Amino acid sequence: MLEEQKILIVEDEPISRKVLQHLLKPLTSILTKNGAEALDVIEYENIDLVLLDIHMPIMGGFEVIERLKNNDKTKDIPIIVITVNHSTEDEIRALDLGAVDFITKPFNSVILQKRVRNQLALKLKSDLLEKHASLDGLTNLLNRRMFDSDLESKWAEGRRLGVKVGLIMFDIDHFKQYNDNYGHSAGDLVLVRVARALMKSLHRQTDRVYRYGGEEFTLIQFDTDLEQLNQTAELLRQCIYNLNIIHEYSTHQKISISVGVALIDYKGDDSETVLLQTADKELYKAKGNGRNCISSITI
Ligand code: GH3
Ligand code: MG
Ligand code: MG
Ligand code: MG
Repeated sequence: MLEEQKILIVEDEPISRKVLQHLLKPLTSILTKNGAEALDVIEYENIDLVLLDIHMPIMGGFEVIERLKNNDKTKDIPIIVITVNHSTEDEIRALDLGAVDFITKPFNSVILQKRVRNQLALKLKSDLLEKHASLDGLTNLLNRRMFDSDLESKWAEGRRLGVKVGLIMFDIDHFKQYNDNYGHSAGDLVLVRVARALMKSLHRQTDRVYRYGGEEFTLIQFDTDLEQLNQTAELLRQCIYNLNIIHEYSTHQKISISVGVALIDYKGDDSETVLLQTADKELYKAKGNGRNCISSITI
């Protein structure tokens, strides 16, 4: 697993760069020669550890640490500082800014390798923990916690950029009847199959489905309009209906979903809660209209 992780080496001296890369083989490392270049690379590469020189032209190491720690995408990447002049002040400053370790040149190769491996192992563990904390155990979909935080951040981003955010909320029809007649474990299996089908049917790269709770799911669509939202909602409805899971105790004789769709126009001081409540109301309307259908609105 460690072999799949990536290290970013930020060092202005060509020879030191090569030595570090060689020492860390077979781990993958990407080489950059200054802070600015490093910040650029880290935006599009998934980096697991940064080995950072302090004294570099253009942008020094301290500024790099500060910038990485102030960016949500990079704040959890561990940074090991490697420097030629050992000064206690530099070491304290680097640790204060959030570096995890400080190594002075000339270093012992074995010790450097072991420190790097220790940090990578920790990173792997925290990545795994974070993944488990964001997924629903039964369906493997993103969970309610992730939905709440994504809805809040997408709402804020949409408002800032003047981009519309839509919410689709859907719920399995007559699911209580399914459980009561076919058993709770058969019901669990339906939830797993539904989740799998939903994930497969997504056609926009940024769309994400969440298990909102029980047999209710949500989808946030960023930068969209009512037509696209309705299209997505119809796709979801069809994909579940076409699973052809027999449900003799439902009006439609098969497992189906009812779908509520809401789009926000950012008039007034609404919050993301309004979007949620509106989608929920539309879902309720779809249930009233006979289930296995969509109801949508722009507010
Ligand atoms: P409606 O069409 O109005 O949505 O009717 P419904 O029966 O689906 O709605 P209701 O809210 O009455 O029942 C939801 C059911 O979903 C009840 C609950 O047992 C079931 N459920 C919720 N979570 C799970 C789960 O994790 N596994 C299983 N098997 N059932 C679940
Ligand atoms: Mg240097
Ligand atoms: Mg429900
Ligand atoms: Mg239901």
